[in-house]
Amino acid sequence: MSKSQSDKPGIIWLNTLVFAITFAVAAIGVPWYGLTHGFSLGLWLALIGTIAFAGISITAGYHRLWAHRTYDAHWSLRILFALGGALAVQNSALHWSSDHREHHKHVDDNDRDPYSAKRGFWYSHIGWMLREYQASRYHDYNNVKDLQKDPVVMWQHRHYLALTLLTSIGWPIAIGLLLGDVWGAVILVGFARLVINHHTTFFINSLAHIWGKQPYTDRNTARDNGFLAFLTFGEGYHNYHHIFSADYRNGIRWWQFDPTKWLIRSCSWLGLTSNLKRTHGYQIEKAKIEMQFKKLTARTPIRCETTLQKLQDEYDALLLRLREYYQARKQLLDNKTKALTEQMPTLEEMQDKVTELRAAFLEHKHHFKMLLRHPQAY
Ligand SMILES: [Zn+2]
Ligand SMILES: [Zn+2]
Repeated sequence: MSKSQSDKPGIIWLNTLVFAITFAVAAIGVPWYGLTHGFSLGLWLALIGTIAFAGISITAGYHRLWAHRTYDAHWSLRILFALGGALAVQNSALHWSSDHREHHKHVDDNDRDPYSAKRGFWYSHIGWMLREYQASRYHDYNNVKDLQKDPVVMWQHRHYLALTLLTSIGWPIAIGLLLGDVWGAVILVGFARLVINHHTTFFINSLAHIWGKQPYTDRNTARDNGFLAFLTFGEGYHNYHHIFSADYRNGIRWWQFDPTKWLIRSCSWLGLTSNLKRTHGYQIEKAKIEMQFKKLTARTPIRCETTLQKLQDEYDALLLRLREYYQARKQLLDNKTKALTEQMPTLEEMQDKVTELRAAFLEHKHHFKMLLRHPQAY
């Protein structure tokens, strides 16, 4: 054995065997059973439904509710997320959140980020769970003291093993008995489903830190990737998430695929979720403009002093317009609230001002984009 190999922490056999066996059974069992017996439509639908339930329990529950506290949820919803999280077999919500908070706090730090992307694809995807890399801080839950006050979190943490076995084995068997094909259900809804849930979540730690765009920040490796968002119920907008992690949304545009956000918002209409936190539009636009300017000045060799000065002036002016627009908008919103009790004669004028400033900002933004594309033309 080479020195570097012997220096590595010991293998965690339970994790290694669970990942290896579930993968092997899914890879061999699905085609074999599909060819010899076939899977019914009911089983395929159960597969999709179970992937969605376990997957969203991780994204809406473990991630956005517990790890980041981006909204509050009714106890009934928290119990569903706790059960779905156990079905996803990704450790307890308490442990998962503790790891994830370390990831955000020390992102890309190879010693302190539990799944640092700078240690490569394999390590950040699954390798970090196969050896005792986390042994020194495994039972340190100091960074999740707030979650220890949530009885649902602590109930799931205490009974995690029983809940995991009950859900991940009991659920496929129950589906199988209902549809009259227990082995088919165990292979498809049990094994294959678990492998899909595992690796799509793991892609966020690996691929979403390697593949995609960085529209908001390049201070860490996180990327925005629409394709990964599709596989992960909206978690693929990871560049946005790392800079604005207190936001309950990851895909902030209406056309971005973020079913986790849609679920959290829909539940708020039913009174099941509340206190949904959003980043102020001004902060989002500012981060984007700063990033565009940074990319341009890093990429284009601008030797001409006047071009550089012109770009800097345009950039400063754009930020000013952005601030003006959002200040006027805030004033309007404040006065609209007041106007509910007293008549404000200037409300219409203020609306006009906001519309005017918005148009001016958008026009300037367009102009700035043109400038970024052809800086030498100026
Ligand atoms: Zn996060
Ligand atoms: Zn990340």
